[in-house]
Amino acid sequence: MSNLETANAIFYNKIQEATQDGEKLRNCLQCGNCSGICPFGYVMIYPPSRMIAEVRANRFEKILGTENIWMCVSCYACTSVCPAQIPITAGLMTGAKEELLLAGNVPSELQAALEYSQRYGNPLGESPRKRADWAREIQPEVKLLGKYRQPVDVLWFVGDYPSYHPRVQHIAQSMAKLLNALNINFGILGPEEYSDGDSQRLAGERGLFEMLAEKNGQAFNKYDFKEIITTDPHAYNAIKNEYPKLGFSFPVRHYTEFLAENIEKILPFLKNEINARVTYHDPCYLGRANNIYEQPRSLIQNLPGVELVEMPHNLKNSLCCGGGGGGMWLDGFQWEKSHVRLSEWRIQEALSTGANILAVACPYETSRFEDAAKNIDKTGQLRIRDIVELLVESMGV
Ligand code: SF4
Ligand code: SF4
Repeated sequence: MSNLETANAIFYNKIQEATQDGEKLRNCLQCGNCSGICPFGYVMIYPPSRMIAEVRANRFEKILGTENIWMCVSCYACTSVCPAQIPITAGLMTGAKEELLLAGNVPSELQAALEYSQRYGNPLGESPRKRADWAREIQPEVKLLGKYRQPVDVLWFVGDYPSYHPRVQHIAQSMAKLLNALNINFGILGPEEYSDGDSQRLAGERGLFEMLAEKNGQAFNKYDFKEIITTDPHAYNAIKNEYPKLGFSFPVRHYTEFLAENIEKILPFLKNEINARVTYHDPCYLGRANNIYEQPRSLIQNLPGVELVEMPHNLKNSLCCGGGGGGMWLDGFQWEKSHVRLSEWRIQEALSTGANILAVACPYETSRFEDAAKNIDKTGQLRIRDIVELLVESMGV
């Protein structure tokens, strides 16, 4: 067997052995559904079905020599339509990204985010000491568990972008105000919180993911709480589905699940009419990856003065914002290859519904969609708001 054949065999075996249901790769029907639904399939030299054909033909090295894989935004659309139930996103695409990273074939902007994550514990390259600075003005004070040292009901995992990004910090501040108004006994890790690591994992950096998960898992182990809630669907996915594989198992919910369950407590606070037609973007890691579709919609429908309308791509068929699987750190690269921004497609869809508000539930989305709206929405029709911001706006707190 030649070296190239060996590399191919190692990759094939790795996918089959290291991924849940990886052996199903053998069952590919070459139907092309995966490549057809892939939002960037049209620019990939090797979209998923063709990749599988090449791997079967012992030609994985052809894929390694391209930048094809970095167009994958880990949106799970291919996985959701595969009749053979092949783990395309978690197995094939993520495994191939791991091999490209090992081969040093990685775009520089992604490399920078991965290096920041390694050095600072977050992909933005911000100081860990400033991780809770967003909470300084909040009253009652947001409890830092390292200082508070008493049991809480909820450990709120704030996430990278709500902690540091100037636009997204507003979502963290809204969440803190909402939890305070509901009298929830909650605390945060602050400087002890690291990136959840899920997007780094899906960008092929499994070792970095494990390091970050280990640090978060050890911090969780230090404190007394009943459950974790997350702002970020990627953090939710990691803590729910990936951290247990490393020995860190904790009850976790995305904030939309938590708030939907507490809706009876929230309703008396919802006083101000929003007066808007609202459409909702299903984030890939709430919807397709974890089947959470109803709770965000029920929160929106409970807002006074709101009419909820659906975009053509919704629920399981939602269109990715382009931020997953490292896409958040590959905008320049993906624009260069495709001259398309998935976030701009989504804004066009939202506008087509006549909506005034595009509601989101993932911290990647507010800034991505606001940037896209600047290019597409010339009349200023559409506002982008996280669901928690809409709740707080109605509460007037
Ligand atoms: S959708 Fe599944 S069965 Fe069809 S080509 Fe893609 S991987 Fe193969
Ligand atoms: S996960 Fe999404 S972007 Fe990646 S190959 Fe599948 S459909 Fe394409």
